[in-house]
Amino acid sequence: MTGVRSFDDAFLPSLRTLGDDDALREFLQSTADLHRLTVAIDEPDGKSFVLAGEASTPNPMAPTSWVGDPIVYDGVNIGLLRVGHGPDRSEAEVERILAHVRLVLDLLLHHGHRSAVAAALQEATMREHVRQVTIQNEELRAAYEHVRQLDRLKIDFLGTVSHELRTPLTSILGYGEMLVQGVAGELQTEQREFVQTIREKGEHLLQLINGMLDTAKLESGTLEVHRAQLLLPPLLESVAATFVPHARRRTQRLELDVGTDVLEVFGDGVRLRQVFMNLVDNALKFSPKGETVRLEARLVVSALYDGQPIGDDELSPTVAYDAVEVRVRDRGPGIPLDEHGRIFDPFYQVDSSQTRKHQGAGLGLAICKRLVEAHDGRIVVEANDPQGTCFVVTLPIAPPDRERRTRLRGSLRP
Ligand code: ADP
Repeated sequence: MTGVRSFDDAFLPSLRTLGDDDALREFLQSTADLHRLTVAIDEPDGKSFVLAGEASTPNPMAPTSWVGDPIVYDGVNIGLLRVGHGPDRSEAEVERILAHVRLVLDLLLHHGHRSAVAAALQEATMREHVRQVTIQNEELRAAYEHVRQLDRLKIDFLGTVSHELRTPLTSILGYGEMLVQGVAGELQTEQREFVQTIREKGEHLLQLINGMLDTAKLESGTLEVHRAQLLLPPLLESVAATFVPHARRRTQRLELDVGTDVLEVFGDGVRLRQVFMNLVDNALKFSPKGETVRLEARLVVSALYDGQPIGDDELSPTVAYDAVEVRVRDRGPGIPLDEHGRIFDPFYQVDSSQTRKHQGAGLGLAICKRLVEAHDGRIVVEANDPQGTCFVVTLPIAPPDRERRTRLRGSLRP
């Protein structure tokens, strides 16, 4: 690799890798100046490595004699140290200077070698670390790709199976309906009851299949939401009306309180109906016989809204309402607080005798959450006072009507 010294090079002694060039040059230069000599270091092939002192000046006073000493490091000859001098210097004096230079040179070379080895070790460790991280990244990427592929397969499978199951089931339900209506001849009471049970179980199965199909569509991003101006009160009335016969059979009551405000949102009627059908169905399902389920809707200021109803005194006289809040309250067993975060997960069910008794796939709330979020809204669960569960859906009001929602608070109150 260019620019990077290999680990092995650091252990091959050479002037270039061992010497701290600047320190070496400075030392040789000052020695040459001090003693008015020429000091030179040559590489083993004879190339000059350092030349300091009189012989290197623009008008050299060429030395008349040289004293030299090979530089051997770690048993390897790595160069030649030479000291050049004029006739005025005694041999003994030059030998002494040479010995001194040699000593300091050894120290510098030793220090340089240590630094080179330390740097090479650090570099090798880093490179090994990077290599391992790269391998781990590659393994992670492959595992992620594998999981994604499995997930796609699961979604495709869920979608195909749900779709294929729905078609024959629709026929079963249709023929059941015709039998109940007496199209194929009048049924005896017991026969009618049996066919009715077949229909009810079939409807339940259809609900589960639809839930799986919706989940598959949501997961694959193919579920579409067509939003438009939508008045919520008629939608909520129609949801309540659908459940009235069912509630009556269980001696349960359904109450609807939508007040007098114009509750208009920007939503998909079919999908929002599905959300409230699901919440009311659950509320009735988990409430004991004889109890009441309440559906309430009103305008709120969602910026102030923190899951608690806003008290009158918290609001200024002029209020810009920006959302509609729908509450579905029941007086059933309630949902333990530590389960509130998980009940919106797909296939999650609170493990209670109530849930086991009522069956279900645990998909309804997960789908509701995704649908409400697709409307830029949110859904939370609270404890109902004094008993039961309260699901709160908050949906932004229809955008062009924002101005109309700003009204004097109290103008509708006596
Ligand atoms: P399921 O088809 O099982 O009803 P949901 O997603 O609609 O699936 O609900 C998930 C779980 O949340 C239910 O199994 C039940 O344990 C709990 N749950 C939902 N609504 C209520 C409610 N109104 N009262 C008590 N528990 C509820």
